[in-house]
Amino acid sequence: MPKLTDQTDEEILSLLETGQIKQYTLDRELEPLRAVQIRQQFLLSDYPDHIIDTIPYKHYSNYETATKSCCENVIGYVPVPLGLAGPLLINGSEYNVPIATTEGALVASLSRGCRAVRESGGIDSTQTYFGMTRAPLIKFSCGRAAKQAADWILEPGNFEKIRAQFESTSRFAKLKSINPKQAGKLLFLRVVAATGDAMGMNMISKGCEKMLQFLQTVDVFENMTVLSISGNYCVDKKPSAMNWINNRGYSISCDVTLKCDVIKSVLKTSAGALAELNSSKNHVGSSLAGCIGGNNAHASNIVAGIYLATGQDIAQAGTSSMAMVNMECLDRGDLYVSVTMPCIEVGTVGGGTSLAAQQNNLQLLTSAPDVNINAALLAQVVCGAVLAGEISLLSALCSGDLVKSHMQLNRAER
Ligand code: NAP
Repeated sequence: MPKLTDQTDEEILSLLETGQIKQYTLDRELEPLRAVQIRQQFLLSDYPDHIIDTIPYKHYSNYETATKSCCENVIGYVPVPLGLAGPLLINGSEYNVPIATTEGALVASLSRGCRAVRESGGIDSTQTYFGMTRAPLIKFSCGRAAKQAADWILEPGNFEKIRAQFESTSRFAKLKSINPKQAGKLLFLRVVAATGDAMGMNMISKGCEKMLQFLQTVDVFENMTVLSISGNYCVDKKPSAMNWINNRGYSISCDVTLKCDVIKSVLKTSAGALAELNSSKNHVGSSLAGCIGGNNAHASNIVAGIYLATGQDIAQAGTSSMAMVNMECLDRGDLYVSVTMPCIEVGTVGGGTSLAAQQNNLQLLTSAPDVNINAALLAQVVCGAVLAGEISLLSALCSGDLVKSHMQLNRAER
């Protein structure tokens, strides 16, 4: 067959239609924009023009990276409005918060929360944990054999042997622990590793594969069957008490003392009203609803907005949004507010952060030249922004402004 570059669009379409080439051949052999154009014709031929015409595909500089590592069967891209909230004052430095969203009122509300935080002296933020997880699932002939294997893993000298294998797969992966959990003859190995500035799911999966290959050479594992590199005990992309209790990714704690006059002038409410609503809504209401990690008003709004803007794995926005908001009334009408987030799954290298726009949005966090925009910093900004978003939304609920502001900013004239 002649090279695709020597063929007309019609000839290539005919090859696709008759199954003589696969779609991925387009990306391998053609210039990226031509590949996208031909794929549009191939996949969308049954759709009316007015639909096809609204899918943007020109002027995208990243098809090469996108098709190699971010998406298959690419037919274009989806423009999402990008807003910049802030500045958000955390540990004495100011950060801008890029938010990609279609929810009008969100960026304005977050900016108001940032202002209240700033005028109260800023957020104090601490990182309490970092470790990404993956839990391979292996099966033995009986429960006793699974128990022997779990015991072998827990012997300190054996952990070191596994660590050497695991860490040989990456310059950045550092094995922290392996927690076996047995269910009859099934054994789940919850592997925890530091993953540098990458969110780390591919990295840790690669390390786990190497670990399993090594275990197969150890006599107590000789008859094991690897059922899956992931046995859901990780827990990735599913809400879970496990991650809420044991952490996953970055665990961050942020707090601020809001000044009485700021609560009044910026947030249009009082410490007492905010604390009462936080207790009744974020704690009692969420308990009645059976939420796990849902002791917040809208953490996922902020998390999803930042994740989309900065190339995080958006499917982790739900699990990363687990957050507890606590409030305590202080003397003179001030209010102590804290947000605890045990499961912020972020990176500043790898995955979607390798796309130019998303990487540039990460750089928007600060224009200060000496700041290293790394994953730990991003996690702090996520948690701090959630805090600012919580106080602003709860204030809007206290003052009865929520519906009014959404009608103004979130509903276009029709
Ligand atoms: P990745 O892009 O697969 O790997 C990160 C790469 O960056 C590695 O090659 C690493 O080097 C390199 N790197 C360079 N500088 C680094 C630094 N300072 N810190 C850390 N790494 C550095 O990214 P990943 O975070 O492991 O995986 C993220 C991707 O996994 C996302 O696209 C996500 O959607 C996807 N994902 C996968 C699974 C799964 O089950 N596999 C599940 C959920 C999501 P080394 O080669 O030396 O490690």
